[in-house]
Amino acid sequence: MIIKQQFIDGKWVNSKSNETRDIINPFNQEVIARVTESDETDARAAIKVARYAFDHGEWPTTPATERGHVVNKIADLIERDKEELAELESLDTGKTMEESRGDMDDIAGVFRYYAQLADKDGGEIIDSPVANSVSKVVREPVGVCGQITPWNYPLLQASWKLAPALVAGNTLIMKPSEITPLTSIKVFELMEEAGVPAGVANLVLGAGGTVGAELSVHDDVDLISFTGGIQTGKKIMQAASGNVKKLALELGGKNPNIIFADADFDTAVDQAMNAVFFHAGQICSAGTRILVEESIHDAFVKSLTDKVKNIKLGSGFDEDTQMGPLISEQHLNKVMRYVENGIKEGATVATGGKRPTDPELQNGFFYLPTILTNCTTDMDVVQNEGFGPVITVEKFSTEAEAIKLANDSIYGLSGGVWTADIAKAERCVAKMRMGTVWINDFNLYFPHAPWGGFKQSGIGRELGKAGLEEYTETKHIFHNLKPEPINWFQ
Ligand code: NAD
Repeated sequence: MIIKQQFIDGKWVNSKSNETRDIINPFNQEVIARVTESDETDARAAIKVARYAFDHGEWPTTPATERGHVVNKIADLIERDKEELAELESLDTGKTMEESRGDMDDIAGVFRYYAQLADKDGGEIIDSPVANSVSKVVREPVGVCGQITPWNYPLLQASWKLAPALVAGNTLIMKPSEITPLTSIKVFELMEEAGVPAGVANLVLGAGGTVGAELSVHDDVDLISFTGGIQTGKKIMQAASGNVKKLALELGGKNPNIIFADADFDTAVDQAMNAVFFHAGQICSAGTRILVEESIHDAFVKSLTDKVKNIKLGSGFDEDTQMGPLISEQHLNKVMRYVENGIKEGATVATGGKRPTDPELQNGFFYLPTILTNCTTDMDVVQNEGFGPVITVEKFSTEAEAIKLANDSIYGLSGGVWTADIAKAERCVAKMRMGTVWINDFNLYFPHAPWGGFKQSGIGRELGKAGLEEYTETKHIFHNLKPEPINWFQ
């Protein structure tokens, strides 16, 4: 069994209480690791270290080019240990090895992208209204950053926070999800090997209500970057108000996927399926809300259902597995209740809607890929994020209706439009209130493009230049080159 500690001030240590937590494989419920379990005391110790490293350490003033080299080295080490990292991620989350390997490539790409951005913004000289003066704008690190991540893409979500925070010269305390900490622990080993100085990046393992809450409320933390559910995001906003922390919140989504009758039918069906069932639908940007034009509705549902019935469930380590289990028993129960509620509201189960009966899947938290038809926008199952392998299908008959339905949500993370009509696609995306909109695609993201939500899907952006700016404060410096008395009060 894997036994792991947390990383504070450049040392691997147990929690002060010596408590531990067992990490469970969602495929068979076996204990795969035992990790130290912290509480507020350890969080406060890590905050003190990060504060000292920011206020008195060299990292914030290390030349950005050098910080970039260290972050680039982290990318090298991730590539070197890709297979080990992918195995840890699949063990911990149940996702297929193919998905985990893809995640690791993306993660190395994120570190590399930010490494090369490190020294590209040397500030700017702006026009001054005063003669004999220089006015310049520079970006400085924010300070001590608390970073809180979810369980669905444990290391990917961590990379979106670690790489820009380090490149910008901040110090940080990361708290990964308590149920999937293994790849985050490993990447801290790699960051140590890459030469991130002691105290700059600290890892505290523990629950949200203790460690996460302490990071959110503590006055010595300057910024919280959080990825997770809306309800937790709201609690963090309240906790962070005490010292008016900067906040970056990446929250949930219930993402519309609009399919017009003139779209390439087979591609739209195939991609509608991919948009949801990767990682058993546990994706913030999953296209779980399909809006399909009335004239092709029945054919579309039939074709999608036929394909979805063939999705192969199993261990993430079997090469022919296409979909793994859900993350935990608690989450499985939540998804089951979500679907049962949808059925009570009037939705029809086209396929799925229950657990699989295969004997070899009984110890895992499996749920069949599910399509619910006859859905309407007023239903909870359409409005709420189920975060499982569940699609709801609604019909529309006009472009205006499609846009109205797509925007009828508290969420605004992402959405897609499928059509052969370029002008129609552009009209739609201009009106869709979401942070990312795909035309004839779904779920594609990459390090250069900003990621984040409109409405209650969040505040701020990760990835892209915007993701680096989140970790900086803008400072205006005015330099009077010929100071003279003003004599205003004479
Ligand atoms: P969650 O909100 O339950 O937990 C996320 C993290 O917050 C965990 O580390 C948890 O320990 C911590 N936490 C819990 N209570 C806390 C508190 N009171 N104070 C501080 N921290 C606390 O979310 P989850 O179930 O781990 O993840 C699923 C959610 O994440 C979904 O809603 C999904 O859409 C969202 N998500 C969003 C994005 C995005 O990019 N927008 C990406 C991935 C996941």
